[in-house]
Amino acid sequence: MEEMILLKLGELVLKGLNRRTFEDRLMGNARRRLKPFGNFRVYAKQSTMYVEPLDASCDLDGAYAAMQRLFGVVGLSRARSCAKDKDAMLAAVQAYLGERLRGAETFKVESKRADKTFPMTSIQLSQYVGGELDDLYPNLRVDVHNPALTVHLEVRETAAYVHADPEPGAGGLPVGVNGRAVSLLSGGIDSPAASWMMAKRGLALEMVHFFSYPYTSEEAKQKVLELARLLTPWCGNLTVQLVPFTAIQEELRRKCPEELFTVLMRRFMMRIAERVAQRVGAGAIVTGECLGQVASQTMEAMRCTEAVCSLPVLRPLVGMDKEEIIRVARKIGTFETSILPYEDCCTVFTPRHPRLRPVLGELEAAEAALDIEGMVAAAVDGIERVKV
Ligand code: ATP
Ligand code: MG
Repeated sequence: MEEMILLKLGELVLKGLNRRTFEDRLMGNARRRLKPFGNFRVYAKQSTMYVEPLDASCDLDGAYAAMQRLFGVVGLSRARSCAKDKDAMLAAVQAYLGERLRGAETFKVESKRADKTFPMTSIQLSQYVGGELDDLYPNLRVDVHNPALTVHLEVRETAAYVHADPEPGAGGLPVGVNGRAVSLLSGGIDSPAASWMMAKRGLALEMVHFFSYPYTSEEAKQKVLELARLLTPWCGNLTVQLVPFTAIQEELRRKCPEELFTVLMRRFMMRIAERVAQRVGAGAIVTGECLGQVASQTMEAMRCTEAVCSLPVLRPLVGMDKEEIIRVARKIGTFETSILPYEDCCTVFTPRHPRLRPVLGELEAAEAALDIEGMVAAAVDGIERVKV
């Protein structure tokens, strides 16, 4: 009898994405995430994925924590396998859940039978095992409505499984199943949350960060790399492309009206992001923008920003309140790092009175004084790629 992990797969009825693609991607992602925790056998059958340790040195706690963060999984639990026999299941329940059974006052047994050749119905199996447990543990009383402990029995193709406490999984779709996107990662609260939300919808991400050394510090850069690292349990390994942005900002300050500075700067970010997207085969750009949060996040400013690129700009936070975004950031573990007080390149040369409703023609006129192509090419040439 071996302890293992059972995972329920989500959103299998997907239009356009077939089940096979979904499962293959999910298993590939699971295998990669499990590597640090030992050798596991991973396979899927009938909307369930099985993760079985292959030797005693496997770290099942670590593996379980990794699987809690695997997008595409709607529910999971640690379980023990046993023979497909009612008394073998009863023995497995006693051995595996004995302490829990001794500690609880009320319980029920819930059975599922994927193997229709099994000689008992689910109800008969629950009644049999429940009755025996009721006799074996005098402290226990059956309560089918509000039990302190629910014992789950599953009879599947090759074995039966016993477990308690199934919990919700990370949900979403397996990372990569919807393709790749470039995500603009600043050191703030929003962009890590936005990245997480789009990874949850099945996007593999390539991170891009703009830094303005010496106006922004080495610590600010390290903070962004740390934010990316904190996202990897959810997103898988990430590459952060660090783009030197100082020259562009200085040129904008020299040649363009101050009140347009922020939107002009953001147009350069989008142009460079699109270049990176072409290189890595990405089909969209993700940002942490939220309607009305700051001057550069009005509808007019967003329109002027995205006018320079042809890829869709995905803004998963656009309709969220700051409180809701912070809740996401706390849940995924990036909040505490995001609030460390290092400056971002966006706060360098911030205009005193930024234009709230910029007009496209005005921005284009301001940019006429610039060698856009040369500025973009120089920034792209200076990119440093860091794997986290
Ligand atoms: P965040 O909390 O993500 O920093 P914010 O509310 O501070 O967002 P802005 O600074 O206007 O808003 O940035 C809007 C979005 O632009 C960010 O969410 C991020 O996607 C992108 N962005 C801003 N600064 C940078 C940067 N230095 N590098 C990469 N992307 C950036
Ligand atoms: Mg910011």
